[in-house]
Amino acid sequence: MADKPHNAFAMAQAQFDGVAEQLNLDQATRQLLRNPLREYHFSIPVRMDDGSVTVFRGFRVQHNDARGPAKGGIRFHPQETVDTVRALSMWMTWKCAVVDIPLGGSKGGVVCDPHNLSAREQERICRGWVRQISREVGPLVDVPAPDVMTNAQHMLWMLDEFETIHRGHFPGFITGKPVGMGGSLGRTEATGFGVVFTIREALKELGLKPEATTASVQGFGNVSQYAIRLYQQLGGKVTCVSSWDQADQTSYSFRKKSGIDLDELLGMADHFGGIDKAKAKAKGYEVLPGDDWIAEEVDILIPAALENQIRGDNVGRIHQRVKLIAEGANGPTTPEADKVIQQRGIFVIPDFLANAGGVTCSYFEQVQSNMNYYWERDEVLGKLDIKMTAAYLAVSDLARKRKLYMRDAAYVIAINRVAQACKERGWI
Ligand code: NAD
Repeated sequence: MADKPHNAFAMAQAQFDGVAEQLNLDQATRQLLRNPLREYHFSIPVRMDDGSVTVFRGFRVQHNDARGPAKGGIRFHPQETVDTVRALSMWMTWKCAVVDIPLGGSKGGVVCDPHNLSAREQERICRGWVRQISREVGPLVDVPAPDVMTNAQHMLWMLDEFETIHRGHFPGFITGKPVGMGGSLGRTEATGFGVVFTIREALKELGLKPEATTASVQGFGNVSQYAIRLYQQLGGKVTCVSSWDQADQTSYSFRKKSGIDLDELLGMADHFGGIDKAKAKAKGYEVLPGDDWIAEEVDILIPAALENQIRGDNVGRIHQRVKLIAEGANGPTTPEADKVIQQRGIFVIPDFLANAGGVTCSYFEQVQSNMNYYWERDEVLGKLDIKMTAAYLAVSDLARKRKLYMRDAAYVIAINRVAQACKERGWI
């Protein structure tokens, strides 16, 4: 089965339309929610280290802010498109709503490849991005955060530029800042840990003990690394991870049937989560084609790299043994593949629920930044666990009661909350 060319926004809209139909939403609400409220496209001229100027394309899309200031990450990626940013902004709206935090959804990006940029060039892109959009974002309007290939350092450069323009300290402008500079303890691990909090609850529902399960993970970046850490602490065994190889411009899967050693692999990975093939081989890992992570004989699959990874053309490779898919990445499963997964009865923890730990902790960071009072790590992670578990249980409860697919149940809760907020404000 071949998929059409992937368009994440078309996919996000198709998912929305399906649930809008089930909810019998009125036409005005559908029109409002299936498109972003606002979007900004801009050029960022950057003086490169060799003296030349490169003009980068930047975006900020604010999908909906009826429930509170918009919130969403900034992605640096060479294949970034406005449709990807639109889709991600829409998913942010649903994500904040499903975990019931008082924020809306947005997303930003710059078309660039940090692999080929020096730190100073990346700093200039960050500052340039803020200069173009500084009037349309802010602690009470729209709050950015890191995403793929952006990190705490990028956030601090952006904050510094924003504070210079607005002449004051506004640590609530951006989240994912370094600890000690307005960041929250626990933010780095929040998304990966959040994925595993939901896996823990799902395994209880499936009657499985974590220590009796195995998992295969796509990606070896922020989300994946911390998901693996906590899953292993619960006793689970990860037998395969995959990552992008910048030199070969392709991905590889790294398998060790006796279980991967996270710290060992971290020692052979670059800043972008790319694993060194030769070093991995020397340590006894099998180096397999990038897509092979999906065919592993495991109980749990955790896609934690990018969107469009489980598709019509590879969904058939998912092993009979797989009982659970926890979507760490945003939009990893295409609608074609989703149908097959649903028919096979594989339990899915949908992306905007599974990976909501990041934004939940970002919300905690914003609260702490605005108070200028910072909590201990255990307090942050304890609050995160409570929020994620409550959100998971609300979705799985609805799924069971109404016999809904988990993704649809999560959408029903989220869309209802956002539609309600728009109605109560008198927008529709
Ligand atoms: P990251 O940049 O830290 O890591 C991405 C990883 O994916 C890297 O190891 C890279 O090598 C790997 N990768 C890239 N293309 C690949 C491919 N084709 N096959 C296999 N591996 C590949 O990014 P991240 O922050 O971990 O984000 C991963 C996903 O999770 C994204 O979809 C992101 O939007 C989503 N997400 C992240 C957060 C967060 O807090 N970081 C929160 C919510 C959702």
